[in-house]
Amino acid sequence: MVSVSAIKWWSMSLIQVNDLERTYQEGGVSTPVLRGVSFDIESGEFLSIMGPSGSGKSTLLHILGFLDKPTGGQYLFDGRSVADYDEKASAQVRNHRIGFVFQTFNLLSRYSVFDNIRLPLVYSGTEESAWAETTRAAIEAVGLTHRTDYPANQLSGGEKQRVAIARALVNQPEVIFADEPTGNLDSKSGAAVMEIIEQLNSQGHTIILVTHETETAEHANRVIRIKDGQIESDRPVANRRSVKNFRK
Ligand code: ADP
Repeated sequence: MVSVSAIKWWSMSLIQVNDLERTYQEGGVSTPVLRGVSFDIESGEFLSIMGPSGSGKSTLLHILGFLDKPTGGQYLFDGRSVADYDEKASAQVRNHRIGFVFQTFNLLSRYSVFDNIRLPLVYSGTEESAWAETTRAAIEAVGLTHRTDYPANQLSGGEKQRVAIARALVNQPEVIFADEPTGNLDSKSGAAVMEIIEQLNSQGHTIILVTHETETAEHANRVIRIKDGQIESDRPVANRRSVKNFRK
């Protein structure tokens, strides 16, 4: 019989972080922000990262999302160290395997919903013949078909975040990183956003969510708490929240 530990050894985690460090150097001052962080994330997980402001959550998310590099330790994505990804390979991961959702939406304000969501398809080299249909499917997935031709700056905050989610998922990435996605939203719009994120996870997307709200974090199946750049706890969520259950 194969032991559990042998199975674990053979089945590689999607994300492996070992003793990760990130120190900012500015004007001769070095600020250690991540100080030896280690964990694995399996494909299909829904993980929340919590911690007080300034604890290093965004810095960690940016490293995991190939937007920044560690200054120490190891980050393996799909078994390969990020140190071995050159700029071209990193861009390939960012364009095809990862989607990002930010608290501030980061949309092109004068572009339509359709054009904002189509953009990643253009950058990723997707066949032009597939752009329109794929974009419309992503718009439908977030319930914004009636807003397809609206410019982004005429949408509510909740609608903007749904556009940002559609833009993140249009390339069908394995992993979606969300940095305080409900931070600028009222509770009803926030619930709508969390429902979409839950759906994406149930369809098999790995979700990594940064939040400082316990209620939002508990939609995940696991919560990592960070304090002063180190892991304070890493636990499964016992009573996972679901937007759908609230409505019943
Ligand atoms: P969190 O997301 O938990 O609020 P951050 O990762 O944004 O925390 O920031 C952690 C710490 O790193 C903060 O003290 C912040 O001021 C500092 N920091 C973030 N980015 C930079 C930077 N580019 N240069 C210097 N310090 C930075």
